Amino acid sequence: MHIVVCIKQVPNTTDVRINPETNTLVRDGVESIINPFDENAIEAALQLKDEHGAKVTVISMGPPQAESALRDALALGCDEVRLVSDRAFAGSDTWATSYALAQAIKSLGGADLILCGKQAIDGDTAQVGPGIAEFLGLPVVTYIRKLELLDDGARVRVERVFEDGYEVIESEMPVVLTVLKEMNIPRLPSLKGRMRAKRAEIPVLSAEAIGAEEEKVGLKGSPTRVVRIFSPPKKTGGMRIDGTSPLDAARLLVEKLKEQRVI
Ligand SMILES: Cc1cc2nc3c(=O)[nH]c(=O)nc-3n(C[C@H](O)[C@H](O)[C@H](O)COP(=O)(O)OP(=O)(O)OC[C@H]3O[C@@H](n4cnc5c(N)ncnc54)[C@H](O)[C@@H]3O)c2cc1C
Repeated sequence: MHIVVCIKQVPNTTDVRINPETNTLVRDGVESIINPFDENAIEAALQLKDEHGAKVTVISMGPPQAESALRDALALGCDEVRLVSDRAFAGSDTWATSYALAQAIKSLGGADLILCGKQAIDGDTAQVGPGIAEFLGLPVVTYIRKLELLDDGARVRVERVFEDGYEVIESEMPVVLTVLKEMNIPRLPSLKGRMRAKRAEIPVLSAEAIGAEEEKVGLKGSPTRVVRIFSPPKKTGGMRIDGTSPLDAARLLVEKLKEQRVI
């Protein structure tokens, strides 16, 4: 079984700052980490490898410094890594990113299972997993918290979480799954893993190597146009209603809601 895990390197903060002039994320002075949900995707792949035997390949699309995220994946016990990186990819939106990652997976000979995180903590769109599935013509199940293989790895059964419950879904493989934090607790790297990762060569896949069509990547291949991007103003403190009986508190609350034209 070949499992491909897609990981994104993200800034280690949820307090994403934006440069108002360039409309881009401010990355200076912020440490980079593997997107937290992608750590759960790696752990899910490694657990399948431990239980059933599998080759786990981790891919990331990004600038050369994304190499360090791939070294971290190797240190955890993943078998192979690929950095999908080329100047031609600069300016790629989620559509072009999904296309490039799908092409990279094709260039690796495909996969039986493709795991992504639920969403990236910086871009936050949750579009790339389903996008990859669409470009590969594969089924996709999002928001997974549990995964088991059926019929000797011919199918999967997963639990997909939604607001007030969960669904149990079975799918043929190959399939793309996007995973939640509840899925597992990611392991820590071993010393041996760290040593191996430190010495490893990180293969880079260019646009040409993955057979990406020029007009489908980078700014040219990106239908999204960012018109304006800004940090929303911080919310001011709310109002506390207490010191009265529940009935008086309820009356006061209704009054305040009417004043604010909420009701
Ligand atoms: C017009 C435009 C231009 C942009 N230009 C650039 C640019 O020049 N450089 C740049 O870095 N970003 C750029 N971006 C942002 C980039 O498109 C997104 O960060 C990227 O597509 C992922 O979207 P997301 O962060 O919402 O991930 P989500 O869709 O929320 O991620 C879901 C999952 O998909 C996988 N995934 C997502 N991204 C990657 C990746 N890169 N590699 C491997 N797996 C991944 C992970 O498993 C992740 O958990 C641009 C965006 C727009 C709209």
